[in-house]
Amino acid sequence: MIERNKTKKVKVGDIYIGGSDIVYIQSMCNTRTSDARGTIKQIKQLEDVGCQLVRVSVPDIESAEAIEEIKNNIDIPLVADIHFDYKLALMSIERGIDKIRINPGNIGDETKIKSVVDACKSKNIPIRIGVNSGSLSKRLLEKYDGHISAEALYESAKENIELLEKYDFYDTIVSIKSSNVMTMIDSYKLFAENYDYPLHLGLTEAGTVLTGSIKSSVGLGILLNQNIGNTIRVSLSSDPVEEIKVAKTILRALGLYKSGIELISCPTCARTKIDIIKISNEIENRISNINTKKHLKVAIMGCAVNGPGEASDADIGIAGGDKEALLFEKGKIIKKIDEDKLIDELMNRINELLKGDNNE
Ligand code: SF4
Repeated sequence: MIERNKTKKVKVGDIYIGGSDIVYIQSMCNTRTSDARGTIKQIKQLEDVGCQLVRVSVPDIESAEAIEEIKNNIDIPLVADIHFDYKLALMSIERGIDKIRINPGNIGDETKIKSVVDACKSKNIPIRIGVNSGSLSKRLLEKYDGHISAEALYESAKENIELLEKYDFYDTIVSIKSSNVMTMIDSYKLFAENYDYPLHLGLTEAGTVLTGSIKSSVGLGILLNQNIGNTIRVSLSSDPVEEIKVAKTILRALGLYKSGIELISCPTCARTKIDIIKISNEIENRISNINTKKHLKVAIMGCAVNGPGEASDADIGIAGGDKEALLFEKGKIIKKIDEDKLIDELMNRINELLKGDNNE
């Protein structure tokens, strides 16, 4: 098994994917790429919550033409998602894209593949081979009795890699996505046993925020915990900003993301006398928009019986009383706050603790 820090290093813009323990977080815009202003606005929102590279679809000439303006107005590497039309890949490369996502197998005859590879080589642009359940060739599907198995997906990735290697192209990142969590896990494991190309992990058609977050946590979590995966995309039927928040939470749970604000909150019980559910949701909502290099643990606990004790390793927290709560820091009680002032006071104190931080 080739672990994440032993994979090849592939340069994407100003970052290196692979060859280290860093797992980069990425997302994909759902704006029209041809609407450069709208796309830039969404990318800035993604940057603000911690997105480290971003992909846009390039389905037409207008989208390819917008690449330059988008690229000039953002601070993270930009990836173009291309299907079928190799000319759109060439246009994107011409306009300064940092990475191309294609499946060489669906680009057409080999002269077209060679021209994309040559253009990427001349500008040191890497390619992500993005295999997924829907991209399997008829031939491979027939070989595996119409069944989308890990072996079939792996073989598709292998064929695409061999096509690029035929033209001496090795700056490759690979993804092998499936909507089935176990198939996805098995495909990536099979790949990591055989190749040292860095891996982009993700599920395809993962679902809504609830379902997609759970499936991604299981699928990505299992692989990441086995040291497989160099960049992740949590795909959700939602605002892509949510994808970044979920991705950060997955990485933080695995000890792979050390910065940011971590929230712990109690499930509430008969001892709870203030609205902990509302308070914790509101605090989560507010802190999820703060991108900080510091690590801060915030605890929202329902009562003073267990609260400060259970959250003793939190940097700051509250323990509910009757229409009021105790504010504590590192297990030490600081003061009492009325319930109606709780959220604002806690946020003020969190912001004070983050002061001087070099927000990204
Ligand atoms: Fe109940 Fe207090 Fe535990 Fe919350 S912290 S679940 S209110 S005992």
